[in-house]
Amino acid sequence: MPITPTGDDSPTTIRIPQIAVPEFWLSNFGKIQNYLRRRLTAGTLHDIGTSSLGYPLQVVEYERPGCVKLGVFGGTHGHEPGTNASCMNLIHLLETGRDLANEPHDDLLRLLEQVHLYIVPCVNPDGRTVCPDSFYCQAMQNVVVYSNGLQKDGSQIPYDCEATEPCYYFDPADAIFVGGQFVGSGYAANRRLTDEHSDAVEVQALIDFVRDRDIDAIFDLHACGNNFAIQTRSHEAPYWPIMREWQTRAEALFGAKGRALRELFGDGDPPEAPGFFFNAALFHKHAQLMFIAYEGRQGYIGHRVNIPMPTEWEIIDDYLGAIEVFVGLGIEEQYAKANREVFGTQ
Ligand SMILES: [Zn+2]
Repeated sequence: MPITPTGDDSPTTIRIPQIAVPEFWLSNFGKIQNYLRRRLTAGTLHDIGTSSLGYPLQVVEYERPGCVKLGVFGGTHGHEPGTNASCMNLIHLLETGRDLANEPHDDLLRLLEQVHLYIVPCVNPDGRTVCPDSFYCQAMQNVVVYSNGLQKDGSQIPYDCEATEPCYYFDPADAIFVGGQFVGSGYAANRRLTDEHSDAVEVQALIDFVRDRDIDAIFDLHACGNNFAIQTRSHEAPYWPIMREWQTRAEALFGAKGRALRELFGDGDPPEAPGFFFNAALFHKHAQLMFIAYEGRQGYIGHRVNIPMPTEWEIIDDYLGAIEVFVGLGIEEQYAKANREVFGTQ
């Protein structure tokens, strides 16, 4: 789609290329909409607001009275399309018993049938719609351009995800487009200087939706390019052993498929919290739940670290495996127990 800068009548536009993807890689925002509006039968679609650019913000609920409540989020970052596709495969599995490639995931399905699940296929529609549908077999340099976005002069918006002081806001009026790290209003999708609220209306709408729903934990899908989960460094000590248990079980699951899972990131003792607030800290504080981030793969090329090269289906299967371990721990009420310890009896 062509992106025209807002705020003036500059003729500069960028045509975001459409990339051919397999049917099961359902990451295109319009196609996700088609699915959610027409094909849900078991799940309930909640429209919970609109994004900065006017796209619908949606939650799909699979209600199971009396069961543990969990959440899975995809697409916080628009340049991580495999996360959206994984949520859609999860939804299709719950709807039909198979993923979108018609493959079964019997162990995962058996666990999913024991939880009350909230799935958000696209936390950040604005970011999704300014990025291609896949970065598979592309160099990492490509994704950085789309994750940052472009200033009016064509140079990249200076968002550095490794920085201790990343760019929290960039005025869209000064941009050809703000990238997938941002929502359309120019706020970073996943970093704030306060944990009181999120300036990204998309994130705040979700915090308001999950607050008071008694959800035990949320699993947030990201894709920095390598398989690993993150010890949420702002979470209190009762959560740390749960994450280490997730790691142990996930290593076994990935290992059985011949795939590597990297070390748990940020697992110091105590973990050192960053000087700003991730969405993890906001959801944790306002909804009294455990928040887990998992970084999957994109299928980059150009560096030996990307070998062995996964297939696109393996990338999605990695996410579904990570979710399987997450759900298992939830059914055992491990998150609920830690939440009670930290927030008092509920
Ligand atoms: Zn991300």
